Amino acid sequence: MSRAVIALGANLGDRGSTLRAASTAIAALPGVRPVASSREVESTAVTLDGPDTTKPRYRNAVVVVETELRPQQLLDALHGIEDAHGRTREVRWGDRTLDLDLVAYDTETVDTATLTVPHPRAAERAFVLAPWLDADPDAVLPGAGPVADLLAALGDDTERVDEPRLFDDPGRPDEPQVRP
Ligand code: ADP
Ligand code: MG
Repeated sequence: MSRAVIALGANLGDRGSTLRAASTAIAALPGVRPVASSREVESTAVTLDGPDTTKPRYRNAVVVVETELRPQQLLDALHGIEDAHGRTREVRWGDRTLDLDLVAYDTETVDTATLTVPHPRAAERAFVLAPWLDADPDAVLPGAGPVADLLAALGDDTERVDEPRLFDDPGRPDEPQVRP
C-alpha cells in the first residue's frame, strides 16, 4: 500500500457539493482507502497570467488515501471523476467544475509526459499546503520539506470555510467513515 495526497479544487457550480461528491468518489475507488481529509478553504483563482480576482473564487481541499493503484492508474481514475463532474479541458488553468491533482505519492518521483509527482507547483500554492496541513499536521512534501514550514514561508492567503471535513474526523477507529 502507498500513501497518496490529492488536491481538490472547484470554481464553478456548487463547489462544496462537488468537493464532497468527489471525495466520496475517490474513497470509493477500487484499491483506495480514505485516511484523512481537510476542511475546505477558499482562494483566489490563479490563471497563467497570475492571480485574477475577477474570476470565480475556488474552493479547495486535500484528501489523503492509501492505495494499491500506481500513480498513473490513480491519475487516470481521478480524471474519470473529473469527467463525471462535467470537467472540460479548454484552457489550461481555466475555470473548472473540478480539478483533481496528485500532489504526492509516498516519496516517489514520477516524471512522464502525463504525470509529474510530487506536483511541481505544490510548494508555491497555499491552497494546496494549507488544507494538506489541516489533513495531516506532520505532512512533508518530498524534496521540499515539512508542509508547515513551506506554508509559513509562503504565507497563508486562504480562507477557512466553516464546514466539516470531507471525510469524518479520522480521530478514529481503524476505518474512517466517509460522509454520505
Ligand atoms: P491544471 O491542473 O494544470 O490546470 P489540468 O488539470 O487540465 O491542468 O491538467 C493538465 C495535465 O496535467 C493532465 O492531463 C495531467 O496529465 C497533467 N499532470 C501532470 N502531473 C500531474 C499531477 N501531479 N496531477 C494532476 N495532473 C498532472
Ligand atoms: Mg489538474
